[in-house]
Amino acid sequence: MNLWNFSGHINEAVVKRGIDYYESGAVLWIKEKPALTFQGFVQGTKKYTVLVMLDQEDRIAFSSCTCPYNKGPYCKHEAAVYLALQHRLREKQIQKLESLEQLLADQPKETLIKILTDIIAECEELS
Ligand SMILES: [Zn+2]
Repeated sequence: MNLWNFSGHINEAVVKRGIDYYESGAVLWIKEKPALTFQGFVQGTKKYTVLVMLDQEDRIAFSSCTCPYNKGPYCKHEAAVYLALQHRLREKQIQKLESLEQLLADQPKETLIKILTDIIAECEELS
């Protein structure tokens, strides 16, 4: 199951509750750990900890929550954390693009021409 389309793979009611949780700010914070592992803290009836591990393609390789929910493989806290993670990864992507833009904007014209001709040459090799 991929982080970006998880909602199609888990119980609709759980997804809905997860959205409510996420939108009401119940995901208190997300801690980024090494190896694409994230720890999310969610305020529910109690405070629960969700652990999510992603692979290189943003697939959810592992996911768990400390709450007692046992009616399915995923709970609303996990769904809420997935949404928060989507948000966070999107922000990161935007930041990456912005810093790339900035990097290019700072280059002299000659360097930009060189970069572009290299890219074009590479595309022609491929076609
Ligand atoms: Zn839970």
